[in-house]
Amino acid sequence: MTDLTGLTLTDARDSLAQKKISAVELAKAHIAAIEKARALNAFIVETPEKALAMARQSDARIAKGEAGPLEGIPLGIKDLYCTEGVRTTAGSHILEGFVPPYESTVTANLWRDGAVMLGKLNLDEFAMGSSNETSYFGPVISPWRRRGSNTPLVPGGSSGGSAAAVAARLCFGATATDTGGSIRQPAAFTGTVGIKPTYGRCSRWGIVAFASSLDQAGPIARGVRDAAILLRSMAGHDPKDTTSVDLPVPDFEAAVGRGVKGLKIGIPKEYRRDGMAAEIENLWAQGIAWLQAAGATITDISLPHTRHALPAYYIVAPAEASSNLARYDGVRYGLRVPGKDIDGMYENTRAAGFGKEVRRRIMIGTYVLSAGYYDAYYVRAQKIRTLIKRDFETAFAEGIDAILTPATPSAAFGLGEKGSSDPVEMYLNDIFTVTVNMAGLPGIAVPAGVSAEGLPLGLQVIGRAFDEETLFSVAHVIEQAAPKIAPPEKWWA
Ligand code: GLN
Repeated sequence: MTDLTGLTLTDARDSLAQKKISAVELAKAHIAAIEKARALNAFIVETPEKALAMARQSDARIAKGEAGPLEGIPLGIKDLYCTEGVRTTAGSHILEGFVPPYESTVTANLWRDGAVMLGKLNLDEFAMGSSNETSYFGPVISPWRRRGSNTPLVPGGSSGGSAAAVAARLCFGATATDTGGSIRQPAAFTGTVGIKPTYGRCSRWGIVAFASSLDQAGPIARGVRDAAILLRSMAGHDPKDTTSVDLPVPDFEAAVGRGVKGLKIGIPKEYRRDGMAAEIENLWAQGIAWLQAAGATITDISLPHTRHALPAYYIVAPAEASSNLARYDGVRYGLRVPGKDIDGMYENTRAAGFGKEVRRRIMIGTYVLSAGYYDAYYVRAQKIRTLIKRDFETAFAEGIDAILTPATPSAAFGLGEKGSSDPVEMYLNDIFTVTVNMAGLPGIAVPAGVSAEGLPLGLQVIGRAFDEETLFSVAHVIEQAAPKIAPPEKWWA
């Protein structure tokens, strides 16, 4: 029998519907693959019993003709999503022992549609990072390696477990979240597809908050169609999240294959940075050529405030994080380290429970919100945010349908190679992605080529608010045109 884990989500869905395979078979194949792949450290919590029980129920529903759109599809869940009765860590020590008594809306939507849960995926602590090296549970190792080298590489972050598990064929797709690039950057590093939908497209209810005005849920999958199928189930209005938008969820899959004829694609000159790697520049030029050949019109555009996006993000995001993380005080849930009085207990708990990067963000956030500095930092960053948003609105008002940029400034790097002496080195990974969160727009990363060292490289397509459909159409054209990248060799199994 062929290895079932090598199917696409789309193929698995169709084979299940035709009863060529069963949900239990699929679950078993993935459980076995996960057991063999512990060297990747992609999962924090494995839930094989739950997966099998859910798969049995899926098979029963398929037999009765009551299958949902994701019936029997095994998925991994970023461990930032609360899952009822299943330990949820956010990659942090401070949530020690936390078992949510409720289910996040997005995961509830997936289970409603028949998906099967394989477990909880590793991530940077509270989703703060770009390499999955800040997780309390240790780094995720990318399934990818440089040609002829055994150096362990990062899968990107913060959704590093999600990206690695999907790339290593441990699940057909995974949930992820993106505050500044955490879906798109790991997708680009691992040759997978990741979409951050428009802010408000998915409910944030039950997802551990990092920066609430920027956080958004989305899928990582092995192809554009697979991602479209997943997003349709994940998305939707939720009265429990007032920032989720009450708009109908389109059939995103129907947009795959629509083509780009007549679309106007903008190429922002500010994304062409000094010292940009030649292979990234070439990848971008290649993407432009593919879209042009498929009938799109290419137009140079300007997004003049781009260069302020990263500094402004590193004020807004830590500010919101410092407020959101104030709730971890050792009183209500998670870790508690005793102290001589209540203040001592707070201090000891937070000092022991948060890792270095999270503590840095809390300190920066508290500083920029404090009296005397609020106007100089936080208010200014918010003004810049408005200007960034306006840049995009101007481009779209001039008739641009989508914007093409590189997804990351480089291919994946080695474990420990970046950011140890200067955190900004790590922050620069998100140079092409943070603007999209600041503007609340949708962005998709799609594999488009390989680096000189044989590692995947991705392009990013940015669209109008609530026009994820165009992103799927454009990304599909790139996916079709790009050379097929062979999956990573299973050195871990
Ligand atoms: N890498 C960025 C950060 O560390 C973005 C993370 C994210 O999108 N969750 O803040």
